[in-house]
Amino acid sequence: MRNISKIIDGKRVIIKKPELLAPAGNLEKLKVAIRYGADAVFVGGKEFSLRSGASNFTLEDIKEAVSFAKQYNATIHVTCNIILHQDNLHGIEEYLKALDRAGVKAIIVADPYIMKIAKDLDLNLEVHVSTQLSTLNTKAIKFYQDLGMDRVVLGREVCYDDLKTILDKTDIDIEYFIHGAMCIHYSGRCMLSNYFSHRDANRGGCSQSCRWYYDIFDSNQKLNEGKIPFSMSSKDMSLINHLPELIELGVDSFKIEGRMKSLHYIAT
Ligand code: SF4
Repeated sequence: MRNISKIIDGKRVIIKKPELLAPAGNLEKLKVAIRYGADAVFVGGKEFSLRSGASNFTLEDIKEAVSFAKQYNATIHVTCNIILHQDNLHGIEEYLKALDRAGVKAIIVADPYIMKIAKDLDLNLEVHVSTQLSTLNTKAIKFYQDLGMDRVVLGREVCYDDLKTILDKTDIDIEYFIHGAMCIHYSGRCMLSNYFSHRDANRGGCSQSCRWYYDIFDSNQKLNEGKIPFSMSSKDMSLINHLPELIELGVDSFKIEGRMKSLHYIAT
């Protein structure tokens, strides 16, 4: 059970303020996110991160980001959530040590090897389980907690009732998406982009194939003749009107999707 509120002078007062975690594709966007109220910002490094098109941060950029964030009591999380292939193994330890020295608060990871070395290296970095692992239940969360992970970013497929159960029955930090684009498939299990454009969604290359327009056929009969083309993923998530309920449940961190989005999007 999470401690959300207490009685002060006879009135119930919410005492647990969730972290607002915003995306940023470059330093300019990061500064806007923090100036507009983000408690934390997640960014992608040049290496080991998804969204390779999101003008990812160099180590120097990350150091500047940390020092800017400190002025506002904000923190920086760095995504290291690619699924490692054999040729991605080189340099990961040095990279994690450099992030630690830079003062990054947390890394967001999906590959079990990165989870393991992040813990073995005994760094100050928190290790957050990426949404790419589609964590949807209390048992899976406990598994990651037993591995020493500090936070689980839930899969975007978790519905309200399951979120309520998860927050009732677990005591690890829980991060939940409240806004932005959705994968139409389970995150991290999609091969559409690899198939259509030879760009690996699990190594930062997703070409957003689920948002392209398609004609649909039943045998030779075109089903959308004269109608608008079919898109698999036409709607984004928008939970702004449900934030009071989510605060009541005790979500630890509200995450906004969109490292590739504009300054205006982030500020809004
Ligand atoms: S193609 Fe769509 S569903 Fe697949 S990984 Fe990319 S955004 Fe997600």
